[in-house]
Amino acid sequence: MTNQEASLAPYAAHSATSKGRLFDELAPDTRTEFQRDRDRIVHCTAFRRLEYKTQVFVNHEGDLFRTRLTHSIEVAQIARSIARNLQLNEDLVEAISLAHDLGHTPFGHAGQDALNACMHNFGGFEHNLQSLRLVDKLEQRYGAFDGLNLMFETREGILKHCSLANAKKLGDIGQRFIQRKQPGLEAQVANLADEIAYNNHDIDDGLRSGLLTLEQMLQIDFFARHNREVEAIFPGLRGRRAINETVRRMINALINDLIETSRKRIEAAAPQSIDDVRDATPLIAFSESMALEATALKQFLRENLYRHYLVNRMTSKARRIVVELFDCFVNEPALLPPDYQLMSPVTPQNSGLTETDSAQLQARQVADYIAGMTDRYAIREHRRLFLVDDGHL
Ligand code: MG
Repeated sequence: MTNQEASLAPYAAHSATSKGRLFDELAPDTRTEFQRDRDRIVHCTAFRRLEYKTQVFVNHEGDLFRTRLTHSIEVAQIARSIARNLQLNEDLVEAISLAHDLGHTPFGHAGQDALNACMHNFGGFEHNLQSLRLVDKLEQRYGAFDGLNLMFETREGILKHCSLANAKKLGDIGQRFIQRKQPGLEAQVANLADEIAYNNHDIDDGLRSGLLTLEQMLQIDFFARHNREVEAIFPGLRGRRAINETVRRMINALINDLIETSRKRIEAAAPQSIDDVRDATPLIAFSESMALEATALKQFLRENLYRHYLVNRMTSKARRIVVELFDCFVNEPALLPPDYQLMSPVTPQNSGLTETDSAQLQARQVADYIAGMTDRYAIREHRRLFLVDDGHL
């Protein structure tokens, strides 16, 4: 096979100099190692579940809103555009982008916060760590190993942040948090592509749902500027088309700024390898003025969309569902599907465990089960457990 990565910059991730997989495997015949990672992610169970997991709006609220699946695809598109311009490894940014939200609970951040509170005495719950746990352990597809056995650089990108306490338990992959180093550029790109995607699609979904109004949006200079540009080119254009034309200009402006600023920073630091990148300051970044605009946008969305009273109602309901499911299963593990029950009385998995260990292990199994649920599955499971109605056994 010709070297498909020959055109990449020296500071990009290359299969040949990768830190490799947890379990050695033969190199693929017709793909690069990172293409194989991307393909494994697309075929895994957790990836399909993203279709029915929430970003901001609960999945059944409308067919046109983003789900975690469409969000992840948008992140991959933006990340690949940036990566191609900087001669980075497109397959790797795509793999990281498609996997970055795999560990999310149902109901978005409301679900994650609720599950984290439930897991307070059992090591906590963090969606980022859960994404890594999924690709390292929980997916069951291959005969030779648990998880997807992804490349180090893909796993490094999936683990965007991590507490020091957790980093110490993670071996190699946690080291950079202890040593305060950066991940490869592909991971840095995927991280900011995520931000570009959600800021813009949340505006789009917010306007579509009526929770945000155009008048409100025009108070944001970044939006108003691009909206005026649209008005100048298409006088009198209104409604969805005017919003789409505005949002696509905002996405373009953010991507172009990111490419230009990052290019300059890479030139100045002149890294010769991915290890040089890891030792440098973050090289993928917005310009100072664009970073300020992005922050203002985020702040606006937090105040006006994520804390909108109708979103609060959904968040509150979601929290109750997650907490009640968790309490129910922890108190009565016999209600769990067999795969999630800590085996009893004694198996290789629980022999020799103290009571605290086994409580911890059982709580983690419950968290894995709940985190894997889609929005609608969580709602149905809650109904099955709590509704006394012969239609819901
Ligand atoms: Mg995301």
